[in-house]
Amino acid sequence: MQFDDLGLDRRLLSLIAHRGFEKPTDIQRQAIPVVMAGKDLLASSKTGSGKTLAFLLPAMQRVLRTKALSRRDPRVLVLAPTRELAKQVYGQLRMLTSGTPHKAALVLGGENFNEQAKVFRQSPTFVVATPGRLADHLKQHHLSLAGLEMLILDEADRMLDLGFKAQLDAINEQANHRLRQTLMFSATLDHQQVTDMAAGLLKSPKRIAA
Ligand code: AMP
Repeated sequence: MQFDDLGLDRRLLSLIAHRGFEKPTDIQRQAIPVVMAGKDLLASSKTGSGKTLAFLLPAMQRVLRTKALSRRDPRVLVLAPTRELAKQVYGQLRMLTSGTPHKAALVLGGENFNEQAKVFRQSPTFVVATPGRLADHLKQHHLSLAGLEMLILDEADRMLDLGFKAQLDAINEQANHRLRQTLMFSATLDHQQVTDMAAGLLKSPKRIAA
């Protein structure tokens, strides 16, 4: 299977070709059609598998092809356990959004809270964040997740191992429930807390392993 067979937008295909990626990885082949069909997803995959583009490509496609629920609120939120991983996701996202009107914000713990709050005034389409810091901004009403269309949990097992359950629950509670699609990625699905969280968060998810 080639990237061309996945039904991706021409703009995205040309970015992929420009990066020199020849074929979709296993996780990309499995996840992209599921996400493009609007289904919730529970995926086991490791770092290095190409999982980041497995969720960013269909998220970008949705943003390019459909109208926003809200002009102000973020449409896609990616949560990652560490600053390093969040920065890597943000780097790949910037490759997809550059040259489009869609802004991406990176919101990390350990940086000046009030300075950081200003990024939400630019109405970013995408927010990539660590959960503790994002929960703090929600508490201060620096952003609204009422218009959220996609919630993506990257390395959900590590977020739970790091003790972010309460923050993830608080974020989930505020994020649009009716129209939202939710994707959960975890190194392992053999993790009680991951299974419990998936049961509460995902609606009839498609499960994939890659
Ligand atoms: P990830 O597992 O998402 O952290 O990706 C690991 C690395 O693989 C990143 O440097 C990506 O840029 C790269 N990558 C992602 N998709 C592909 C692909 N289809 N072919 C070759 N490399 C890829």
